[in-house]
Amino acid sequence: MVQPEEDPMDDRQLPIVEHWHAGARWSGKAERHGDVHDPATGRVTKRVLLASAADVDDVVAGAAEAGRAWGAASLTRRTAVLFAFREALSRRRREVAEAITAEHGKVLDDALGEVQRGLEVVEFACGAPHLLKGGFSDGVSTGVDVHSLRQPLGVVAVISPFNFPAMVPLWFVPVAIACGNAVVLKPSEKDPSASLVLAELWAEAGLPDGVFNVVHGDKEAVDALLEHPEVAAVSFVGSTPIARYVYETGTRHGKRVQALGGAKNHMVVLPDADLEAAADAAVSAGFGSAGERCMAISVVVAVDPVADELVPMVAARMAGLRTGDGRRGCDMGPLVTGEHRDKVTSYVAAGVEAGAELVVDGRDVAPDGDADGFWLGPTLFDRVVPGMSVYDDEIFGPVLSVVRAASYDEALALVNANPWGNGTAIFTRDGSAARRYTRDVEVGMIGVNVPIPVPMAYYSFGGWKSSLFGDTHAHGTEGVHFYTRGKVVTSRWPDPGAGVVGGDGGGGGGIDLHFPTQQ
Ligand code: NAD
Repeated sequence: MVQPEEDPMDDRQLPIVEHWHAGARWSGKAERHGDVHDPATGRVTKRVLLASAADVDDVVAGAAEAGRAWGAASLTRRTAVLFAFREALSRRRREVAEAITAEHGKVLDDALGEVQRGLEVVEFACGAPHLLKGGFSDGVSTGVDVHSLRQPLGVVAVISPFNFPAMVPLWFVPVAIACGNAVVLKPSEKDPSASLVLAELWAEAGLPDGVFNVVHGDKEAVDALLEHPEVAAVSFVGSTPIARYVYETGTRHGKRVQALGGAKNHMVVLPDADLEAAADAAVSAGFGSAGERCMAISVVVAVDPVADELVPMVAARMAGLRTGDGRRGCDMGPLVTGEHRDKVTSYVAAGVEAGAELVVDGRDVAPDGDADGFWLGPTLFDRVVPGMSVYDDEIFGPVLSVVRAASYDEALALVNANPWGNGTAIFTRDGSAARRYTRDVEVGMIGVNVPIPVPMAYYSFGGWKSSLFGDTHAHGTEGVHFYTRGKVVTSRWPDPGAGVVGGDGGGGGGIDLHFPTQQ
Protein backbone atom coordinates (compact mmCIF):
# COMPACT_ATOMS: atom_id res chain seq x y z
CA MET A 1 0.00 0.00 0.00
CA VAL A 2 1.27 3.49 -0.82
CA GLN A 3 2.02 5.41 2.33
CA PRO A 4 0.43 8.89 2.39
CA GLU A 5 3.81 10.59 2.64
CA GLU A 6 4.92 8.82 -0.56
CA ASP A 7 1.83 9.62 -2.58
CA PRO A 8 2.57 12.62 -4.83
CA MET A 9 -1.12 13.38 -5.18
CA ASP A 10 -1.67 13.48 -1.43
CA ASP A 11 -2.65 16.97 -0.28
CA ARG A 12 -0.24 16.79 2.63
CA GLN A 13 2.61 16.73 0.15
CA LEU A 14 1.74 20.10 -1.30
CA PRO A 15 3.99 23.05 -0.45
CA ILE A 16 2.52 25.50 2.04
CA VAL A 17 2.62 29.24 1.28
CA GLU A 18 3.39 30.87 4.61
CA HIS A 19 3.14 34.41 5.95
CA TRP A 20 6.14 36.76 6.29
CA HIS A 21 6.63 38.15 9.77
CA ALA A 22 9.66 39.57 11.59
CA GLY A 23 11.82 39.10 8.49
CA ALA A 24 11.10 35.41 7.92
CA ARG A 25 8.49 32.90 6.78
CA TRP A 26 6.01 32.24 9.55
CA SER A 27 3.15 29.79 9.90
CA GLY A 28 1.05 31.55 12.54
CA LYS A 29 -1.60 29.68 14.46
CA ALA A 30 -4.53 29.51 12.04
CA GLU A 31 -5.65 26.11 10.89
CA ARG A 32 -7.50 27.17 7.74
CA HIS A 33 -5.88 27.13 4.34
CA GLY A 34 -6.88 27.67 0.68
CA ASP A 35 -5.99 25.93 -2.57
CA VAL A 36 -3.65 27.55 -5.07
CA HIS A 37 -4.04 26.31 -8.65
CA ASP A 38 -1.89 26.26 -11.73
CA PRO A 39 -4.56 27.67 -14.08
CA ALA A 40 -2.87 26.17 -17.13
CA THR A 41 -3.26 22.61 -15.81
CA GLY A 42 -6.19 23.03 -13.47
CA ARG A 43 -4.27 21.27 -10.70
CA VAL A 44 -3.91 22.36 -7.09
CA THR A 45 -0.20 23.01 -6.64
CA LYS A 46 0.04 24.61 -3.20
CA ARG A 47 -1.85 25.38 -0.04
CA VAL A 48 -1.93 28.93 1.27
CA LEU A 49 -2.39 29.68 4.96
CA LEU A 50 -5.46 31.76 5.81
CA ALA A 51 -4.64 33.94 8.80
CA SER A 52 -6.84 34.28 11.86
CA ALA A 53 -7.44 37.61 13.60
CA ALA A 54 -4.88 36.51 16.22
CA ASP A 55 -2.26 36.03 13.50
CA VAL A 56 -2.99 39.51 12.19
CA ASP A 57 -2.58 40.87 15.74
CA ASP A 58 0.89 39.31 16.01
CA VAL A 59 2.00 40.68 12.66
CA VAL A 60 0.63 44.18 13.25
CA ALA A 61 2.29 44.32 16.70
CA GLY A 62 5.66 43.45 15.12
CA ALA A 63 5.10 45.97 12.34
CA ALA A 64 4.19 48.73 14.80
CA GLU A 65 7.42 48.23 16.72
CA ALA A 66 9.59 48.04 13.60
CA GLY A 67 7.76 51.02 12.10
CA ARG A 68 8.67 53.28 15.03
CA ALA A 69 12.38 52.81 14.38
CA TRP A 70 12.00 52.91 10.59
CA GLY A 71 10.03 56.16 10.74
CA ALA A 72 12.92 57.71 12.66
CA ALA A 73 15.57 56.41 10.21
CA SER A 74 17.26 59.08 8.11
CA LEU A 75 16.15 59.70 4.55
CA THR A 76 19.60 58.66 3.40
CA ARG A 77 19.21 55.28 5.08
CA ARG A 78 15.70 54.73 3.75
CA THR A 79 16.72 55.70 0.24
CA ALA A 80 19.72 53.35 0.31
CA VAL A 81 17.34 50.45 1.01
CA LEU A 82 15.05 51.50 -1.84
CA PHE A 83 17.91 51.64 -4.31
CA ALA A 84 19.08 48.20 -3.15
CA PHE A 85 15.54 46.85 -3.50
CA ARG A 86 15.39 48.23 -7.02
CA GLU A 87 18.59 46.37 -7.92
CA ALA A 88 17.41 43.14 -6.28
CA LEU A 89 14.02 43.22 -8.00
CA SER A 90 15.59 44.03 -11.32
CA ARG A 91 17.99 41.09 -10.94
CA ARG A 92 15.31 38.61 -9.83
CA ARG A 93 12.45 39.87 -11.99
CA ARG A 94 12.16 36.59 -13.86
CA GLU A 95 11.64 34.69 -10.62
CA VAL A 96 8.80 37.04 -9.69
CA ALA A 97 7.30 36.71 -13.19
CA GLU A 98 7.49 32.91 -13.08
CA ALA A 99 5.70 32.86 -9.73
CA ILE A 100 2.95 35.02 -11.28
CA THR A 101 2.52 32.86 -14.37
CA ALA A 102 2.42 29.65 -12.31
CA GLU A 103 -0.51 30.87 -10.18
CA HIS A 104 -2.26 33.59 -12.19
CA GLY A 105 -1.82 32.05 -15.63
CA LYS A 106 -0.88 35.21 -17.57
CA VAL A 107 1.80 34.65 -20.19
CA LEU A 108 5.39 35.08 -19.03
CA ASP A 109 6.10 38.18 -21.14
CA ASP A 110 3.07 39.88 -19.69
CA ALA A 111 4.16 38.92 -16.16
CA LEU A 112 7.59 40.44 -16.88
CA GLY A 113 5.83 43.59 -18.07
CA GLU A 114 3.90 43.71 -14.80
CA VAL A 115 7.15 43.56 -12.81
CA GLN A 116 8.58 46.35 -14.98
CA ARG A 117 5.62 48.64 -14.22
CA GLY A 118 6.13 47.89 -10.52
CA LEU A 119 9.83 48.68 -10.80
CA GLU A 120 8.93 52.12 -12.10
CA VAL A 121 7.17 52.87 -8.81
CA VAL A 122 10.24 51.71 -6.90
CA GLU A 123 12.31 54.15 -8.95
CA PHE A 124 9.82 56.91 -8.17
CA ALA A 125 10.06 56.09 -4.45
CA CYS A 126 13.88 56.33 -4.63
CA GLY A 127 13.23 60.08 -4.94
CA ALA A 128 11.76 60.21 -1.43
CA PRO A 129 14.15 62.88 -0.12
CA HIS A 130 12.85 65.26 -2.74
CA LEU A 131 9.24 64.13 -2.43
CA LEU A 132 9.21 64.60 1.33
CA LYS A 133 10.69 68.10 1.33
CA GLY A 134 8.62 70.56 3.28
CA GLY A 135 8.29 74.28 2.81
CA PHE A 136 10.01 77.10 4.72
CA SER A 137 8.91 80.71 5.04
CA ASP A 138 11.46 83.01 6.53
CA GLY A 139 10.22 85.89 8.67
CA VAL A 140 6.45 85.50 8.45
CA SER A 141 6.26 87.93 11.33
CA THR A 142 9.02 89.80 13.06
CA GLY A 143 11.48 87.13 14.20
CA VAL A 144 9.05 84.33 13.36
CA ASP A 145 9.62 81.57 10.80
CA VAL A 146 7.29 78.80 9.57
CA HIS A 147 8.16 75.41 8.14
CA SER A 148 6.17 72.33 7.19
CA LEU A 149 7.07 68.66 7.38
CA ARG A 150 5.47 65.35 6.54
CA GLN A 151 5.67 62.40 8.90
CA PRO A 152 4.82 58.70 8.49
CA LEU A 153 1.53 57.23 9.69
CA GLY A 154 2.89 54.08 11.39
CA VAL A 155 1.46 50.78 10.14
CA VAL A 156 -0.36 50.75 6.82
CA ALA A 157 -2.18 47.80 5.24
CA VAL A 158 -2.19 46.96 1.54
CA ILE A 159 -4.90 44.55 0.34
CA SER A 160 -4.43 43.46 -3.24
CA PRO A 161 -6.36 41.58 -5.97
CA PHE A 162 -5.39 38.46 -7.91
CA ASN A 163 -4.84 40.09 -11.28
CA PHE A 164 -1.55 41.91 -10.56
CA PRO A 165 0.12 39.97 -7.73
CA ALA A 166 3.34 42.01 -8.01
CA MET A 167 2.45 45.31 -9.67
CA VAL A 168 -0.46 46.32 -7.44
CA PRO A 169 1.50 45.72 -4.18
CA LEU A 170 4.35 47.68 -5.81
CA TRP A 171 2.01 50.61 -6.51
CA PHE A 172 1.87 51.12 -2.75
CA VAL A 173 4.59 49.35 -0.76
CA PRO A 174 7.71 51.24 -1.98
CA VAL A 175 6.02 54.61 -1.47
CA ALA A 176 4.74 53.68 2.00
CA ILE A 177 8.18 52.39 3.04
CA ALA A 178 10.00 55.39 1.56
CA CYS A 179 7.71 57.61 3.62
CA GLY A 180 8.81 55.78 6.80
CA ASN A 181 5.86 53.44 7.41
CA ALA A 182 5.71 49.72 8.16
CA VAL A 183 3.51 47.70 5.78
CA VAL A 184 1.30 44.65 6.17
CA LEU A 185 0.43 43.25 2.74
CA LYS A 186 -2.59 40.96 2.38
CA PRO A 187 -2.27 39.53 -1.15
CA SER A 188 -4.96 37.66 -3.03
CA GLU A 189 -5.19 34.09 -1.78
CA LYS A 190 -5.47 32.95 -5.41
CA ASP A 191 -1.84 33.78 -6.32
CA PRO A 192 0.04 34.43 -3.08
CA SER A 193 3.61 33.38 -3.91
CA ALA A 194 4.91 36.50 -5.70
CA SER A 195 4.48 38.46 -2.46
CA LEU A 196 6.97 36.19 -0.71
CA VAL A 197 9.59 36.75 -3.39
CA LEU A 198 9.08 40.48 -2.83
CA ALA A 199 9.53 39.92 0.92
CA GLU A 200 12.82 38.13 0.34
CA LEU A 201 13.96 40.99 -1.88
CA TRP A 202 13.19 43.57 0.81
CA ALA A 203 15.23 41.53 3.29
CA GLU A 204 18.05 41.24 0.76
CA ALA A 205 17.93 45.03 0.30
CA GLY A 206 18.57 45.54 4.02
CA LEU A 207 15.09 46.61 5.11
CA PRO A 208 14.89 46.02 8.88
CA ASP A 209 12.81 42.99 9.94
CA GLY A 210 9.16 43.79 10.57
CA VAL A 211 8.93 46.80 8.25
CA PHE A 212 7.48 44.71 5.40
CA ASN A 213 5.13 41.86 6.28
CA VAL A 214 2.81 39.53 4.42
CA VAL A 215 -0.35 38.06 5.89
CA HIS A 216 -2.22 35.61 3.68
CA GLY A 217 -5.90 35.18 4.13
CA ASP A 218 -9.45 35.98 3.23
CA LYS A 219 -12.25 38.05 4.77
CA GLU A 220 -11.18 37.18 8.33
CA ALA A 221 -7.70 38.66 7.80
CA VAL A 222 -9.08 41.68 5.93
CA ASP A 223 -11.60 42.42 8.67
CA ALA A 224 -8.91 42.08 11.34
CA LEU A 225 -6.78 44.67 9.50
CA LEU A 226 -9.75 47.02 8.96
CA GLU A 227 -10.62 46.94 12.65
CA HIS A 228 -7.11 46.95 14.12
CA PRO A 229 -6.41 50.12 16.14
CA GLU A 230 -2.71 50.11 15.17
CA VAL A 231 -3.42 50.13 11.41
CA ALA A 232 -3.52 53.79 10.38
CA ALA A 233 -4.30 53.51 6.68
CA VAL A 234 -5.54 50.99 4.14
CA SER A 235 -4.80 50.84 0.42
CA PHE A 236 -7.17 48.40 -1.26
CA VAL A 237 -7.56 47.24 -4.84
CA GLY A 238 -10.25 44.79 -5.93
CA SER A 239 -13.85 44.52 -7.05
CA THR A 240 -16.29 47.37 -6.47
CA PRO A 241 -18.49 45.70 -3.82
CA ILE A 242 -15.46 44.80 -1.67
CA ALA A 243 -13.84 48.20 -2.29
CA ARG A 244 -16.98 49.91 -1.02
CA TYR A 245 -17.07 47.59 2.01
CA VAL A 246 -13.39 48.19 2.79
CA TYR A 247 -13.82 51.95 2.48
CA GLU A 248 -16.90 52.05 4.72
CA THR A 249 -15.50 49.67 7.33
CA GLY A 250 -12.01 51.19 7.41
CA THR A 251 -13.20 54.79 7.67
CA ARG A 252 -15.70 53.78 10.37
CA HIS A 253 -12.69 52.57 12.34
CA GLY A 254 -10.97 55.93 11.89
CA LYS A 255 -8.55 54.93 9.14
CA ARG A 256 -7.44 56.74 6.05
CA VAL A 257 -8.64 54.56 3.13
CA GLN A 258 -8.09 54.53 -0.61
CA ALA A 259 -10.12 51.69 -2.16
CA LEU A 260 -9.80 51.14 -5.90
CA GLY A 261 -12.67 49.14 -7.39
CA GLY A 262 -13.73 47.50 -10.63
CA ALA A 263 -14.02 48.87 -14.14
CA LYS A 264 -15.79 48.71 -17.48
CA ASN A 265 -13.52 50.57 -19.86
CA HIS A 266 -14.84 51.96 -23.15
CA MET A 267 -12.80 52.67 -26.25
CA VAL A 268 -14.54 55.16 -28.53
CA VAL A 269 -13.65 54.91 -32.23
CA LEU A 270 -14.61 57.94 -34.31
CA PRO A 271 -15.17 57.63 -38.07
CA ASP A 272 -11.90 59.45 -38.88
CA ALA A 273 -9.73 57.12 -36.76
CA ASP A 274 -6.84 55.05 -38.08
CA LEU A 275 -8.85 51.82 -38.10
CA GLU A 276 -5.80 49.55 -38.41
CA ALA A 277 -4.40 51.06 -35.21
CA ALA A 278 -7.80 50.98 -33.52
CA ALA A 279 -8.30 47.29 -34.36
CA ASP A 280 -4.80 46.42 -33.07
CA ALA A 281 -5.51 48.35 -29.88
CA ALA A 282 -8.92 46.75 -29.30
CA VAL A 283 -7.40 43.27 -29.55
CA SER A 284 -4.34 44.04 -27.40
CA ALA A 285 -6.31 45.86 -24.72
CA GLY A 286 -9.28 43.50 -24.83
CA PHE A 287 -7.45 40.18 -24.59
CA GLY A 288 -4.08 40.91 -22.93
CA SER A 289 -3.93 38.99 -19.65
CA ALA A 290 -7.18 37.28 -20.79
CA GLY A 291 -9.06 40.48 -20.09
CA GLU A 292 -8.24 40.22 -16.38
CA ARG A 293 -6.96 43.80 -16.16
CA CYS A 294 -8.72 46.71 -14.50
CA MET A 295 -7.61 48.81 -17.49
CA ALA A 296 -8.66 46.24 -20.12
CA ILE A 297 -10.94 47.52 -22.84
CA SER A 298 -14.22 45.62 -22.55
CA VAL A 299 -16.41 47.83 -24.76
CA VAL A 300 -15.60 49.29 -28.18
CA VAL A 301 -17.99 52.14 -28.96
CA ALA A 302 -18.02 52.30 -32.76
CA VAL A 303 -19.39 55.62 -33.94
CA ASP A 304 -21.36 55.33 -37.21
CA PRO A 305 -20.41 54.22 -39.76
CA VAL A 306 -17.16 52.53 -38.60
CA ALA A 307 -18.57 49.30 -37.09
CA ASP A 308 -19.16 47.49 -40.40
CA GLU A 309 -15.50 47.95 -41.29
CA LEU A 310 -13.97 47.70 -37.80
CA VAL A 311 -15.67 44.54 -36.52
CA PRO A 312 -14.26 42.22 -39.26
CA MET A 313 -10.81 43.79 -38.75
CA VAL A 314 -10.94 42.98 -35.02
CA ALA A 315 -12.24 39.45 -35.70
CA ALA A 316 -9.45 38.80 -38.23
CA ARG A 317 -6.80 39.76 -35.68
CA MET A 318 -8.41 37.56 -33.04
CA ALA A 319 -8.12 34.56 -35.35
CA GLY A 320 -4.33 34.89 -35.12
CA LEU A 321 -4.18 34.75 -31.30
CA ARG A 322 -2.81 31.60 -29.68
CA THR A 323 -4.44 30.72 -26.36
CA GLY A 324 -2.48 28.38 -24.12
CA ASP A 325 0.00 27.77 -21.33
CA GLY A 326 1.75 31.04 -20.45
CA ARG A 327 5.11 29.25 -20.33
CA ARG A 328 4.89 28.24 -23.99
CA GLY A 329 5.08 31.62 -25.70
CA CYS A 330 1.31 31.85 -26.28
CA ASP A 331 -0.51 35.19 -26.67
CA MET A 332 -3.18 34.61 -24.06
CA GLY A 333 -3.27 32.37 -21.00
CA PRO A 334 -6.09 30.72 -19.04
CA LEU A 335 -8.43 32.38 -16.56
CA VAL A 336 -7.41 32.38 -12.91
CA THR A 337 -9.74 29.69 -11.55
CA GLY A 338 -12.26 27.20 -12.89
CA GLU A 339 -15.01 29.05 -11.06
CA HIS A 340 -14.08 32.35 -12.71
CA ARG A 341 -13.82 30.69 -16.14
CA ASP A 342 -17.32 29.24 -15.69
CA LYS A 343 -18.67 32.64 -14.65
CA VAL A 344 -17.12 34.40 -17.64
CA THR A 345 -18.36 31.63 -19.97
CA SER A 346 -21.88 32.07 -18.61
CA TYR A 347 -21.80 35.68 -19.88
CA VAL A 348 -21.21 34.40 -23.41
CA ALA A 349 -24.40 32.34 -23.22
CA ALA A 350 -26.25 35.28 -21.64
CA GLY A 351 -25.12 37.62 -24.44
CA VAL A 352 -26.41 35.23 -27.11
CA GLU A 353 -29.67 34.81 -25.21
CA ALA A 354 -30.09 38.60 -24.95
CA GLY A 355 -29.72 39.03 -28.71
CA ALA A 356 -26.14 40.26 -29.09
CA GLU A 357 -24.39 39.05 -32.24
CA LEU A 358 -21.65 36.53 -31.37
CA VAL A 359 -18.91 37.21 -33.93
CA VAL A 360 -16.13 35.08 -32.38
CA ASP A 361 -16.99 32.34 -29.87
CA GLY A 362 -14.10 31.67 -27.46
CA ARG A 363 -15.82 28.59 -26.09
CA ASP A 364 -14.58 26.75 -29.21
CA VAL A 365 -10.91 27.44 -28.47
CA ALA A 366 -8.33 24.67 -28.92
CA PRO A 367 -5.73 25.65 -26.32
CA ASP A 368 -2.04 24.91 -26.47
CA GLY A 369 -2.11 23.44 -23.00
CA ASP A 370 -3.47 20.84 -20.62
CA ALA A 371 -7.09 19.89 -21.29
CA ASP A 372 -7.94 20.62 -17.64
CA GLY A 373 -6.67 24.23 -17.76
CA PHE A 374 -9.17 27.02 -17.17
CA TRP A 375 -9.56 28.00 -20.83
CA LEU A 376 -11.79 30.40 -22.65
CA GLY A 377 -10.67 31.86 -25.97
CA PRO A 378 -11.06 35.46 -27.13
CA THR A 379 -14.73 36.26 -27.65
CA LEU A 380 -16.33 39.11 -29.63
CA PHE A 381 -19.89 40.40 -29.55
CA ASP A 382 -21.36 43.00 -31.89
CA ARG A 383 -24.62 44.97 -31.51
CA VAL A 384 -24.45 44.96 -27.71
CA VAL A 385 -26.72 47.43 -25.93
CA PRO A 386 -27.03 48.60 -22.31
CA GLY A 387 -29.38 46.36 -20.38
CA MET A 388 -27.63 43.18 -21.58
CA SER A 389 -25.55 41.64 -18.74
CA VAL A 390 -22.59 41.38 -21.11
CA TYR A 391 -22.61 45.22 -21.16
CA ASP A 392 -23.86 46.02 -17.66
CA ASP A 393 -21.50 43.82 -15.62
CA GLU A 394 -17.74 43.80 -15.20
CA ILE A 395 -16.97 40.40 -16.77
CA PHE A 396 -13.19 40.43 -16.18
CA GLY A 397 -12.41 37.96 -18.93
CA PRO A 398 -11.65 37.77 -22.68
CA VAL A 399 -15.04 39.03 -23.84
CA LEU A 400 -15.10 42.19 -25.94
CA SER A 401 -18.37 43.93 -26.80
CA VAL A 402 -19.02 46.35 -29.64
CA VAL A 403 -21.72 48.96 -29.05
CA ARG A 404 -22.76 50.99 -32.09
CA ALA A 405 -23.35 54.70 -31.48
CA ALA A 406 -24.94 57.14 -33.91
CA SER A 407 -22.73 60.11 -33.00
CA TYR A 408 -19.90 61.40 -30.82
CA ASP A 409 -22.47 62.83 -28.39
CA GLU A 410 -24.22 59.48 -28.07
CA ALA A 411 -20.86 57.76 -27.44
CA LEU A 412 -19.91 60.27 -24.75
CA ALA A 413 -23.31 59.97 -23.07
CA LEU A 414 -22.95 56.18 -23.02
CA VAL A 415 -19.54 56.31 -21.33
CA ASN A 416 -20.69 58.89 -18.80
CA ALA A 417 -23.83 56.93 -17.93
CA ASN A 418 -21.69 53.94 -16.95
CA PRO A 419 -21.30 53.53 -13.16
CA TRP A 420 -17.55 52.90 -13.45
CA GLY A 421 -14.94 55.47 -14.42
CA ASN A 422 -11.53 53.83 -14.36
CA GLY A 423 -10.06 54.15 -17.87
CA THR A 424 -11.19 55.05 -21.36
CA ALA A 425 -9.67 55.72 -24.77
CA ILE A 426 -10.64 57.65 -27.86
CA PHE A 427 -9.32 56.85 -31.32
CA THR A 428 -9.48 59.74 -33.77
CA ARG A 429 -7.35 61.99 -35.98
CA ASP A 430 -9.36 65.03 -34.87
CA GLY A 431 -7.44 66.89 -32.16
CA SER A 432 -10.36 69.05 -31.13
CA ALA A 433 -12.68 66.05 -30.72
CA ALA A 434 -10.02 64.31 -28.61
CA ARG A 435 -9.49 67.42 -26.53
CA ARG A 436 -13.24 67.77 -25.94
CA TYR A 437 -13.47 64.11 -24.91
CA THR A 438 -10.63 64.37 -22.38
CA ARG A 439 -12.47 67.28 -20.75
CA ASP A 440 -16.04 65.99 -20.86
CA VAL A 441 -15.62 62.32 -20.01
CA GLU A 442 -16.17 61.33 -16.35
CA VAL A 443 -13.27 58.89 -16.11
CA GLY A 444 -10.00 59.10 -14.18
CA MET A 445 -7.49 57.89 -16.82
CA ILE A 446 -7.85 58.69 -20.50
CA GLY A 447 -5.93 57.60 -23.58
CA VAL A 448 -5.89 59.45 -26.89
CA ASN A 449 -5.01 56.81 -29.48
CA VAL A 450 -3.57 54.87 -26.51
CA PRO A 451 -5.72 51.93 -25.39
CA ILE A 452 -4.48 51.24 -21.83
CA PRO A 453 -3.55 54.64 -20.42
CA VAL A 454 -1.90 53.49 -17.17
CA PRO A 455 -0.15 56.60 -15.82
CA MET A 456 3.59 56.58 -15.25
CA ALA A 457 4.68 56.15 -11.62
CA TYR A 458 5.26 59.89 -11.13
CA TYR A 459 1.60 60.57 -11.95
CA SER A 460 -1.13 58.99 -9.86
CA PHE A 461 -3.31 56.00 -10.77
CA GLY A 462 -7.01 55.99 -10.00
CA GLY A 463 -10.50 56.11 -11.41
CA TRP A 464 -13.70 57.99 -10.71
CA LYS A 465 -17.18 56.98 -9.55
CA SER A 466 -17.50 53.26 -8.61
CA SER A 467 -13.84 52.67 -9.53
CA LEU A 468 -12.47 54.51 -6.48
CA PHE A 469 -13.70 55.07 -2.94
CA GLY A 470 -11.69 57.73 -1.16
CA ASP A 471 -9.98 60.83 -2.43
CA THR A 472 -6.41 59.82 -3.09
CA HIS A 473 -5.07 57.94 -6.08
CA ALA A 474 -2.14 55.50 -5.98
CA HIS A 475 1.56 56.45 -6.28
CA GLY A 476 2.86 59.79 -7.60
CA THR A 477 2.58 62.73 -5.24
CA GLU A 478 -0.90 61.62 -4.17
CA GLY A 479 0.64 58.41 -2.85
CA VAL A 480 3.22 60.35 -0.86
CA HIS A 481 0.46 62.46 0.68
CA PHE A 482 -1.62 59.39 1.47
CA TYR A 483 1.19 57.81 3.48
CA THR A 484 2.20 60.91 5.44
CA ARG A 485 0.65 63.49 7.74
CA GLY A 486 1.55 67.14 7.47
CA LYS A 487 2.67 69.41 10.28
CA VAL A 488 3.30 73.13 10.25
CA VAL A 489 5.72 74.60 12.79
CA THR A 490 5.76 78.29 13.71
CA SER A 491 9.01 79.23 15.55
CA ARG A 492 10.39 82.19 17.39
CA TRP A 493 13.85 82.01 18.95
CA PRO A 494 15.25 84.44 21.49
CA ASP A 495 17.88 86.64 19.91
CA PRO A 496 20.69 87.01 22.47
CA GLY A 497 21.80 90.19 20.70
CA ALA A 498 18.43 91.90 20.88
CA GLY A 499 17.41 90.71 24.33
CA VAL A 500 13.75 90.62 23.33
CA VAL A 501 12.64 88.87 20.17
CA GLY A 502 9.93 89.70 17.72
CA GLY A 503 8.57 92.84 19.20
CA ASP A 504 5.74 92.65 21.71
CA GLY A 505 3.52 89.88 20.33
CA GLY A 506 3.80 87.63 23.39
CA GLY A 507 7.41 86.50 22.91
CA GLY A 508 8.82 88.25 25.90
CA GLY A 509 7.47 91.70 25.16
CA GLY A 510 4.63 91.51 27.59
CA ILE A 511 1.25 89.85 27.80
CA ASP A 512 -1.22 90.35 24.95
CA LEU A 513 -4.61 88.55 24.97
CA HIS A 514 -5.47 89.53 21.40
CA PHE A 515 -5.58 86.90 18.66
CA PRO A 516 -2.03 86.97 17.19
CA THR A 517 -1.70 89.04 14.01
CA GLN A 518 1.30 89.73 11.81
CA GLN A 519 3.66 92.41 12.90
P1 NAD B 1 -11.75 40.85 -4.97
O1 NAD B 1 -12.53 42.06 -4.61
O2 NAD B 1 -12.46 39.55 -5.00
O3 NAD B 1 -10.52 40.65 -3.95
C1 NAD B 1 -9.63 41.69 -3.66
C2 NAD B 1 -9.06 41.48 -2.26
O4 NAD B 1 -10.13 41.52 -1.32
C3 NAD B 1 -8.38 40.13 -2.08
O5 NAD B 1 -7.21 40.31 -1.31
C4 NAD B 1 -9.42 39.29 -1.36
O6 NAD B 1 -8.84 38.32 -0.50
C5 NAD B 1 -10.18 40.32 -0.55
N1 NAD B 1 -11.58 39.97 -0.35
C6 NAD B 1 -12.37 39.25 -1.19
N2 NAD B 1 -13.60 39.13 -0.68
C7 NAD B 1 -13.61 39.79 0.49
C8 NAD B 1 -14.63 40.04 1.48
N3 NAD B 1 -15.87 39.57 1.36
N4 NAD B 1 -14.29 40.79 2.56
C9 NAD B 1 -13.05 41.26 2.70
N5 NAD B 1 -12.05 41.06 1.79
C10 NAD B 1 -12.33 40.34 0.70
O7 NAD B 1 -11.04 41.15 -6.36
P2 NAD B 1 -10.22 40.15 -7.27
O8 NAD B 1 -11.18 39.20 -7.91
O9 NAD B 1 -9.06 39.60 -6.54
O10 NAD B 1 -9.64 41.16 -8.37
C11 NAD B 1 -10.35 41.56 -9.51
C12 NAD B 1 -11.05 42.87 -9.28
O11 NAD B 1 -10.11 43.88 -8.93
C13 NAD B 1 -11.73 43.38 -10.54
O12 NAD B 1 -12.98 43.90 -10.18
C14 NAD B 1 -10.80 44.48 -11.04
O13 NAD B 1 -11.42 45.47 -11.83
C15 NAD B 1 -10.32 45.03 -9.75
N6 NAD B 1 -9.07 45.77 -9.94
C16 NAD B 1 -9.12 47.12 -9.91
C17 NAD B 1 -7.99 47.85 -10.11
C18 NAD B 1 -8.02 49.34 -10.07
O14 NAD B 1 -6.96 49.94 -10.15
N7 NAD B 1 -9.16 49.99 -9.96
C19 NAD B 1 -6.76 47.20 -10.34
C20 NAD B 1 -6.73 45.82 -10.36
C21 NAD B 1 -7.91 45.10 -10.15
